[in-house]
Amino acid sequence: MATEMGNAPSALNAKISNQSGFQVRYCPEGVHFFDRRSGWNLLLEEVETATASWARAPRYMSIALTNACELSCPYCYAAKEPARQRADQVVQWAKELDANGGLGVGFGGGEPTLFPAFAELCQSVHSETNLAVTFTTHGHRFTEELVESLSGSVDFIRLSMDGVGSTYERLRGRSFDQFRSQLNLIRRTTGFGINMVLNSETISDLPDAADFAFSEGAQELLLLPETGVDGELTCDPKTLSRAANWVSENQARVRLATSDHAVAALGVPRLPIASSDGSFDFMHLDARGVLKFGAFERQGRQLEQGDSLLVAIEALRNTRSAPTHA
Ligand code: SF4
Repeated sequence: MATEMGNAPSALNAKISNQSGFQVRYCPEGVHFFDRRSGWNLLLEEVETATASWARAPRYMSIALTNACELSCPYCYAAKEPARQRADQVVQWAKELDANGGLGVGFGGGEPTLFPAFAELCQSVHSETNLAVTFTTHGHRFTEELVESLSGSVDFIRLSMDGVGSTYERLRGRSFDQFRSQLNLIRRTTGFGINMVLNSETISDLPDAADFAFSEGAQELLLLPETGVDGELTCDPKTLSRAANWVSENQARVRLATSDHAVAALGVPRLPIASSDGSFDFMHLDARGVLKFGAFERQGRQLEQGDSLLVAIEALRNTRSAPTHA
């Protein structure tokens, strides 16, 4: 029998979160419990939630901290004009997400480890919220000092590696041996996964890249068919077909994921707990402070210092036919 919850959602959220360490998200699908340390999710679908209790923050927010990066990967879609966030403002916005049912933030760029006081930012967000803190990196800036300062303040690292050996070196312009030795630092920080861009130059490396990733301790391989600056799939059909065949033969053996718009093409299952309003699982804040539904969107809502992120989220959602709060 369905149970009604959510008459006093904020108070109940705070009580459960404080006592259990779980983040709790009320949504149209039920009550979602999330543990950032393990990545554990539990959705109580039988629980009927009141509309007024539904999370006002997206489940996950990616935040580009800076557009700066010292690499020049040929398929990079990151904006090139100089821009970066302010750390105190990011912490403030993270608190808003935390208080309104958000489950995690993912820092990116550019290269997020180029952001001044990056480790201190992760520490602040992790200690002042229950959000999972993750980031995407090329991995070459890891040092003993960075490992020490990030440990305990980051829940997952997404490491970009588009192929192995000479393929990696040609595309990333860095030594693959150096990348491999950086993994010794990265895996001491927290759990990590590998992000791999798929295109005609990398597809032949997919089996070796997967073997390498999981033998080195990766927990997940995120397959990203190449996209253009507008987010359209630019990966050619032959590459997609080869990737889909490999996925069908290997997905029982290794943990795979892909971007939302490539789920159908690759046959990788969607997130096990996805909202019925998929557009609200995820939002992106670019390095200029423009809030968007995704990193590839051209249009968004500009935030200024001191603006409420929640107000901007609701204003942006109202531009689409998304569920609104009663
Ligand atoms: S490492 Fe990432 S941000 Fe830097 S150039 Fe390559 S794809 Fe772009």
